[in-house]
Amino acid sequence: DMNEQNTTTSTTSTTTSSSSSTNKIEEIKSNLKSQRVATHSHIKGLGLNVDGSANTIGDGLVGQSKAREAAGIVAELIRSKKMAGKALLLAGPPGTGKTALALAIAHDLGTKVPFCPMVGSEVYSSEVKKTEILMENFRRSIGLRVKETKDVYEGEVTEITPEETDNVMGGYGKTIAHVTVGLKTTKGTKQLKLDPTIYESIQKERITVGDVIYVEANSGSVKRVGRSDFYATEHDLEAEEYVPLPKGEVFKKKEIIQDVTLHDLDLANAKPQGGQDIMSMMGQMMKPKKTEITEKLRLEINKIVNRYIEQGVAELVPGVLFIDEIHMLDIECFSYLNKALESTLAPIVIFATNRGNCTIKGTDIISPHGIPVDLLDRLMIIRTLPYSFNEIVQILTIRATVEGHKIEDDALTYLAEIGDKSSLRYAIQLLTPSAILSKTNGRTSITKDDIEEVSSLFNDAKTSAKLLEENKSKYLY
Ligand code: ATP
Repeated sequence: DMNEQNTTTSTTSTTTSSSSSTNKIEEIKSNLKSQRVATHSHIKGLGLNVDGSANTIGDGLVGQSKAREAAGIVAELIRSKKMAGKALLLAGPPGTGKTALALAIAHDLGTKVPFCPMVGSEVYSSEVKKTEILMENFRRSIGLRVKETKDVYEGEVTEITPEETDNVMGGYGKTIAHVTVGLKTTKGTKQLKLDPTIYESIQKERITVGDVIYVEANSGSVKRVGRSDFYATEHDLEAEEYVPLPKGEVFKKKEIIQDVTLHDLDLANAKPQGGQDIMSMMGQMMKPKKTEITEKLRLEINKIVNRYIEQGVAELVPGVLFIDEIHMLDIECFSYLNKALESTLAPIVIFATNRGNCTIKGTDIISPHGIPVDLLDRLMIIRTLPYSFNEIVQILTIRATVEGHKIEDDALTYLAEIGDKSSLRYAIQLLTPSAILSKTNGRTSITKDDIEEVSSLFNDAKTSAKLLEENKSKYLY
């Protein structure tokens, strides 16, 4: 409907090309968080059969069958929207795959579901409030899928009438308030009231009455106009989509889908430079500035997001917020979490702990996992168990393949023994230095010698603690 086009556009949107803004979004992703996910790059899902049972190995996950099956049920609850106000707790020793399982749940929910891992201790900073850090991570875990359809109209220009207004700011002179363009299509003539920036491009291209032009609209508002030859040569458009337009017909370009998180939008608008629509927000993401994200700004973003959801332009994609070492949070954080879980804009929250009974930080109350009872009440708890020797071998094999290392059989067995004695994470960490060592020595695969040498150079946490204990007198306490 051409009447829908009679809206003015924001000042920045005309130059925003959707393909390049996708790249910009990638650029501002925090590398801190992605590096944390990198050690789990082999995890592709929960690896469950249709009946919900776990294969010994599936989607990169090894063993831990009960936990995986339970996680599958939780994923089902999430999909059927029965987890609202609830959260999941993964309880088990270090390196038993709690982070891996949380990521697998996120993958299981869909390919573009945000996954945001954090550690409880992250909330303590001298500069930022604890609840502010929690809020930021909540917003990193809520995705927004923006669907835009581009409509292109072709028609003959019947009038170009710039409307001037007094330049109040300068005290004298006139500026263009808007421009009315008449467009004759086979469906009749419409008058489009367009924004001054569009007038600039009309002038730049020397478009006059009688010219045949294209008018491009994104989700109901005119984004730009141009001659047909201009369109055909636009580098960011696929020319063939524009050239054979039937005269005067509406041509619907394919849907453009962009995935962003609420935090991306907060960041991009911490210093707003122009328009209010989401596409122009995305355009601004190129240069993220270190500015403060205020509560007011977030409310503003929420309003816009809600409007886009109502209009059917955007869809909310609740992701997974994973908070490891939950016992590091204090009572203030817990009461914040309790409230945040109730919000309509809440992600799926998964906590992890390796603690039994301990005090709730900020109180002298002892509680299971250091979690207050009112939050415990909302939790579904899944236990993770230590791995068998064979399972460690299998996980190490997968990691070596993913990281592109060749490893000899006896080296693998030796590394698995180390993992069994200290921790799986430690054994995985030894892979890269061992590979570097073997390469330095001119070999193409990791040998047992490489592992022996590397493990003699580094201490695992247990050995380190033992050494400290034995040499107490030599250290400052
Ligand atoms: P912590 O309690 O110390 O945070 P965690 O329980 O979260 O540890 P992870 O970090 O998930 O443990 O696991 C350590 C490493 O082992 C990661 O690289 C992870 O991807 C891998 N891993 C853990 N469990 C499995 C599994 N069942 N299958 C495949 N890989 C696994």
